[in-house]
Order: sequence, then structure tokens, then C-alpha cells
Amino acid sequence: MSDNDTQQDAQPQDHLGNVDASEIAKFSALASRWWDRDSEFKPLHDINPLRVDYIDTHAGLAGKRVIDVGCGGGILSEAMAHRGAQVTGIDMGEAPLSVARLHQLESGVEVDYRQTTAEAAAEEMAGQFDVVTCLEMLEHVPDPSSVIAACARLVKPGGMVFFSTINRNPKAYAFAILGAEYVLQMLPRGTHEYRKFIRPAELGRWTRDAGLKMEGSTGMTYNPLTRKYRLNSSDLTVNYLMHTRRPTEEELA
Ligand code: SAH
Repeated sequence: MSDNDTQQDAQPQDHLGNVDASEIAKFSALASRWWDRDSEFKPLHDINPLRVDYIDTHAGLAGKRVIDVGCGGGILSEAMAHRGAQVTGIDMGEAPLSVARLHQLESGVEVDYRQTTAEAAAEEMAGQFDVVTCLEMLEHVPDPSSVIAACARLVKPGGMVFFSTINRNPKAYAFAILGAEYVLQMLPRGTHEYRKFIRPAELGRWTRDAGLKMEGSTGMTYNPLTRKYRLNSSDLTVNYLMHTRRPTEEELA
């Protein structure tokens, strides 16, 4: 595993400085199985209906312009396009993007997939999106606060930004690493690094620093007996989703 200090020292202003090549390689190596529901990506398929409903309920996806940051093979991007959103999906992994581009031909939706970072996209497309989603990605980057600031720049004033990640505490370690990678073997070992997990208070602080207002949050809890996930607003101890809003010009005036 790479050294903590080196990672935290990455320079956010150089957008490639905020890409961990070993993380991109990890997802690229698995890319061919992205749409196989019985593969390493099963957990993403399982939580997808829950998170799309959550986003749709709070942002109303139909007709909205959405950017999906760290889209991977497009599980979330496609589902949002199915709900009538005009979706741009960005990721730094070439292989997941190829899979995503092929898969949309099969499913008949149209997503604009691009290989870029959140930081570079924010330079190019600032303020162009009604909704920004950045799910299960922040725990894979050297400097999450830089990605969060880029998401805040991508959204229009008044628009919504959604994040999801994994909390950092002994229970999250037990469920997300020991349980998922070792006991149930749902994920390959090394998928997640404990020290990169993010507490809700940390995510809250970074979103505030980026000028976003907290609107709400919910946990996504996994029951190992039924092997099902559900949204649970009172349990953010392991996986959780947060939604934030960029204030309008009037609100800031
Ligand atoms: N958001 C998707 C995929 C999550 S997997 C979903 O929830 O279904 C994490 C993805 O983040 C991978 O596809 C990986 O290539 C991408 N990623 C990691 N670091 C990145 C970075 N710095 N910039 C862009 N994408 C990144």
C-alpha cells in the first residue's frame, strides 16, 4: 500500500496530481466484468436502485443536465439517463470508459463519456450542470477536498451535488474491509484502504469549504443475512450518501 504522507501531499492545483494511478489500474483490470451482476461490481449493482431513487427524489432527474464524476463502467450514469437526464460521465480509467461506451449501445441510452478529472472538467465546464454526482469515488483519490471543490464549481447556482463514500470507524472497517473483502469475498482484497475512508464530519467540512450547503444524508446499510442493502437515514456508520446544494446568487447576496 502506498504511503499516507505522499498521498496527502499531492498538489490539488495540478489535476493529474490528484489521480492515484494504482487506483485507476485497479478498476481498469476489472473493467470487463463491470456489468456482470455476480462479479466484484455486485455491490454497486445492488445499491444502484436505492441511490438513483434518492438522487431522483431530491433532484428530479428528468430533463436535468448531470455530470457523474468517477463514473466507471456507467452503472449510475446509465440509470440516470434512463430517468431522462442528459448525462456526462467522466473517469480517468480508459478501460471502464470503453466498457461504458459499449454498454450504452446495448441498453439504448446516450451518455457522453469522457476521460478527464473533476478538476479539469471544472475548468472547462464550470456552472453547466443542474446536478453533480460523485459516488464511491472520493475514497480512491489522494485529495478528496479538491474533487469536492471541483464538483462545487461544476454545478449551477441552486443545483444539487451528491456524494457517497464509506465512513471511518471500527464498524466500517469490519463491514467494508473484513466482511466484504475477506469473509463474504464480495470485493477483491485491497479494493479499499481504511485510512482513505471519510467521516461524515470531514465530508461535511469539505463541502462547506467548497461553498456547498448540506441538505441531507442517509446511510446505505447492508444486512449480511438477507444480503440486501437499504437506505437508513439514522445509520451512517458504514456506507452513506450526502446531498448538498450550491446556493443561488440571491442567497449569497
Ligand atoms: N461512481 C461509480 C464507480 C465507482 S468505482 C459507481 O458508483 O458506480 C470508482 C471509480 O473512480 C473508478 O472507475 C475509477 O477509475 C475512478 N477514479 C478514481 N480516481 C479518479 C480520479 N482521480 N479521477 C477520475 N476518476 C477516478
